[in-house]
Amino acid sequence: MELPERLFVDGGWRDAVGGRCLSLVNPATEEPFVDVAAADVADMTAAVESAQRAWESGWRDLAPGKREALLHAVARKLREHQEEIAQLERLQIGKPISDARDEAGLGARVFEFYAGAVTKFGGQTLPVGRGGFDFTLRQSMGVVAAIVPWNFPFPIACWKAAPALAAGNCVILKPASLSPLTALKLGQLAHEAGLPPGVLQVLPGSGSTIGDALVTHPLVRKVSFTGSTEVGRRIMELAARDIKRISLELGGKSPNIVFADADWQRAAETSPMSVFANTGQDCCARSRMFVERSVFEGFLERFVAVTRKLVVGDPAKDETQLGPLVSAGQRESVEAYLDDAKVLGTRFVSGGVRSGAKGYFLEPTILLDVKKTDRCWREEIFGPVVAITAFDDEAAMLRDVNDTPYGLSGSVWTSNLSRALRVARAVQSGVLSINSHSSVHVEAPFGGFKQSGLGRDLGMGAMEGYTELKNVYVGE
Ligand code: NAP
Ligand code: MG
Repeated sequence: MELPERLFVDGGWRDAVGGRCLSLVNPATEEPFVDVAAADVADMTAAVESAQRAWESGWRDLAPGKREALLHAVARKLREHQEEIAQLERLQIGKPISDARDEAGLGARVFEFYAGAVTKFGGQTLPVGRGGFDFTLRQSMGVVAAIVPWNFPFPIACWKAAPALAAGNCVILKPASLSPLTALKLGQLAHEAGLPPGVLQVLPGSGSTIGDALVTHPLVRKVSFTGSTEVGRRIMELAARDIKRISLELGGKSPNIVFADADWQRAAETSPMSVFANTGQDCCARSRMFVERSVFEGFLERFVAVTRKLVVGDPAKDETQLGPLVSAGQRESVEAYLDDAKVLGTRFVSGGVRSGAKGYFLEPTILLDVKKTDRCWREEIFGPVVAITAFDDEAAMLRDVNDTPYGLSGSVWTSNLSRALRVARAVQSGVLSINSHSSVHVEAPFGGFKQSGLGRDLGMGAMEGYTELKNVYVGE
């Protein structure tokens, strides 16, 4: 399998002017396996200028049917290369291969959805009071910067690039330094599918080197970001200078609420993967579990039993459910939380230790007696760690659920319909599932309340976030 090693700019592979590179390490083996060119500010500037040229010289005015066909062609290419994309994802971040295949398929599905959106998304005609004729236009913005993280590198790259392109923008995709390979592959395959040079460019490069300059570049009209709340806040501050459009999808500390009247056995069997999937490196991870006291012991017993059977190990094997953490640094960051928990006398029911001779593995960890003031309760750990607590009273539990700066996702398990709807309304989060742990649907909006973000990815609504709304009035 050929590994992409250079920047994908203006329709081809380019070296980075500064000669910097990112040295990628396979997190399952701790072995370095490729050096990828890392953009400098000069590379970024050239790419933004190329994107602007591509937008002005044809992409923004392309007939919608042609843009639709091109995005379908991209989706077909992604499907043809699904296995290769999955293997690149596995190599660079240790994603279990079965998940990586699903996510490669999801990326293709996202392009199909937004290919369809091109010819179904538009403005309105409005009956204005003074008569005449009034209509709205949804216009492309120009150059969009998509800055994406390493936990779901390929699908998130697709779910930012596809609607931005569908709406008629050109995209600069900046992958995380740990995961440039699948983003580069996307750039290459999209070009092979027929996207003109400059329409979708991929710029690996350190966020601290090119991030600020990319966000503040005057030709970049919109920044779409997924990552930490800290970097999201910085982007928002920088964007304020030019009133730049931004959308942010940030951290989470999502609840999983299990009532005694639920099919709590099913909840217990499915809940481990709601927090441990992707080794807990998931902004939707249900890292705080609230279980009604009368079923707490039974729930915990099953939850622990299922967790102990999870297959942790070589991401290349079909049966593996949990791979390593993405990097040595990420594992150390998670372990620092566990060290804190130990000092505070937290009960470890399971996990908390490394596994395997090589690789950044950490056993799924179940904590009890975590106080509501502890770091493990309040902060996003981004690793395979869950805190489980019992509750007696719905109203008090909901106060605890909402006592967090985050509000991304969550689950509620109950067989009582009115309770399900009441609690769904009360939880302060942008996404919620009832008797399910599913959070992401291509057709539906995804994003957070409070410090979990601003704006929404996915669904038809994402098209609005990549367009400006113009009102045109024609006098009589
Ligand atoms: P991060 O720093 O927010 O990285 C996300 C993206 O932002 C990467 O592409 C990163 O590039 C880029 N970036 C970094 N600094 C930037 C800047 N000043 N301007 C513009 N872009 C910049 O996240 P991280 O450091 O990888 O992870 C730290 C924590 O963030 C995690 O432990 C987790 O809690 C949270 N996180 C959340 C999500 C999510 O899905 N919401 C995803 C990832 C991380 P580089 O990789 O080159 O730095
Ligand atoms: Mg960072």
